[in-house]
Amino acid sequence: MDFINIKHVNKVYKNGVTAIYDLSLKIKKGDFVFIIGGSGSGKSTLIKMLYREERPTSGEIMLGGLNVAKLRNSKVYKLRRKLGIVFQDYRLLPKLTVYENVAFALEVIGAKKDEIRVKTLKAIDLVGLKAKTRNYPTELSGGEQQRVAIARAIVNNPRLLICDEPTGNLDPDMSKEIVKVLETINKEIGTTIIMATHDREIVNEMKKHVIALKDGRLVKDYEKGTYDNEIV
Ligand code: ADP
Repeated sequence: MDFINIKHVNKVYKNGVTAIYDLSLKIKKGDFVFIIGGSGSGKSTLIKMLYREERPTSGEIMLGGLNVAKLRNSKVYKLRRKLGIVFQDYRLLPKLTVYENVAFALEVIGAKKDEIRVKTLKAIDLVGLKAKTRNYPTELSGGEQQRVAIARAIVNNPRLLICDEPTGNLDPDMSKEIVKVLETINKEIGTTIIMATHDREIVNEMKKHVIALKDGRLVKDYEKGTYDNEIV
């Protein structure tokens, strides 16, 4: 069964801009998907609709059995618990250590202390930051900070990890490291990963599922795609 099924989605913002036109696509459980396209092509809008930061104007978004478009505001927390989200700018809490930043995601949902400890250390280990557990974000490189953000996003074992331009602030070497970490999570835990990106080199190297948008429309949907043969 498809984990995500998007059917005939349109998104018109209040100012009249149509950001997404009649978009339909499917994503399988355990998939690793790149969403590519130029600036303003609708990547962020699509991602925001998946975690219900924005609602589609029409159409349906099914995600793991939840109808995201129809979900009441009071039930959005149910959706968010199934998801981890990573942003371009890391969004770490500067006064908390690596451990505390990751643990915080479990504290806010009321997890028990022992569970928090075990899961937090496991997530930090998985992203390769064991040696930095007690460091503060300012003591880390950009790539390391993004790895903390990834650990925080996966600490509660979400079924879906959404990444909006996660390598946008990083140099090519660090970007590759980040994508390797994401690939490990995808392979070892089976987490479905959706990553919006401009990074040609990474998309071409990975040969993953590529969805390309242009002016809000789906222009390519390849199982094992690259960036360079796209008209975006
Ligand atoms: P991308 O992430 O590919 O750069 P976006 O989804 O951010 O694209 O934007 C798609 C289109 O929607 C653009 O024309 C952008 O200006 C417009 N847009 C994005 N967010 C808003 C908003 N909150 N209000 C109005 N228009 C928006």
